[in-house]
Amino acid sequence: MSRVLRRILTVALLGALLALPAAAAEELPNLVVLATGGTIAGAAGSDVQAGYTSGQVGVEQLLAAVPQARKLAHLRGEQISNIGSQDMTDDVWLKLARRVNELTATPDVDGVVITHGTDTIEETAYFLNLVVRSRKPVVLTAAMRPSTALSADGPLNFYNAVGVAADPDAAGRGVLVVINDWIHGASSLTKTNTTAVQTFLSPLRGLVGTVSYGDCEFYRGAVGKNTVDSEFSLDGVTALPRVDILMAHEGMDGALIDAAVAAGAKGVVIAGVGNGNMTKAAVETLAKHAQKGVVCVRSSRVATGRVGRNVEIDDDKLGLIASDDLNPQKARVLLRLALLKPRPAAELQRLFLEY
Ligand code: ASP
Repeated sequence: MSRVLRRILTVALLGALLALPAAAAEELPNLVVLATGGTIAGAAGSDVQAGYTSGQVGVEQLLAAVPQARKLAHLRGEQISNIGSQDMTDDVWLKLARRVNELTATPDVDGVVITHGTDTIEETAYFLNLVVRSRKPVVLTAAMRPSTALSADGPLNFYNAVGVAADPDAAGRGVLVVINDWIHGASSLTKTNTTAVQTFLSPLRGLVGTVSYGDCEFYRGAVGKNTVDSEFSLDGVTALPRVDILMAHEGMDGALIDAAVAAGAKGVVIAGVGNGNMTKAAVETLAKHAQKGVVCVRSSRVATGRVGRNVEIDDDKLGLIASDDLNPQKARVLLRLALLKPRPAAELQRLFLEY
């Protein structure tokens, strides 16, 4: 090879190599980060104190705190709310769901990451799982320690959530929640510890996958109908029906069930003892309201397990619904959407088995 040719080839090769990072950067997926608040955006007076306030840090600060995430995706942020998720409202849910649907319908958006508080993340994730109309990755993340804490968990959780949303393999698995290196399905995860960093588990259905420094390993697809297969829609919806949750206990009477219905509840979910059980007085009160069209669902206050029909309580006779494997807070979400139109008891029961 002549010297000139060799020089030309060397220059061409060098040029190609130098151009590579730019080309790779252009190929990064476009993700939108929707921030809602929570401890991930929380701040305390010092890095070693338990007391703090959720929702103090804005989305731009959140993005600036994890510059490494820009190596995984093109990111832009929007602030949906900035609240502790204990204050989550229907208005924020509707705004968030509509924005996710708008964004994921846009060809230049490849996925959405949502930052949220841990207290109600399972409810928001499950709500979105039922009303988002896209197979594109929609990934929620959160933190147990505020952004100012020693060993804050938010930055790596956020980085991992971006890694999951940027992975084309995350598509079509329903809405996901990424926290502490684990990828949970919206219908399966639940918060199990008030303060521990390792608080979320997916007890019955298992993990969707794991993620290590943005690198994903997927184990399973979605369990239960979701997103593009869901029959629920927010079209024309401005408010969701009231559904209350009441916890069963020794000596429960029907007074609070009556009070919930008097306050306007169209549905009641009982966090029952054991397999969705409750006192005879509570069962009779439920049956009385069920006869008048209030939808009464039996779930369980027990951390894991299914609630089956007609086990110790005759659901067929009393007109009650069994929650199957939805915990009370997720049963409430499903029931609120189900109650957007009138449905016979058999259809309501089908929803609890399918979603
Ligand atoms: N109370 C906080 C919230 O849910 C807790 C957290 O984010 O960890 O917003």
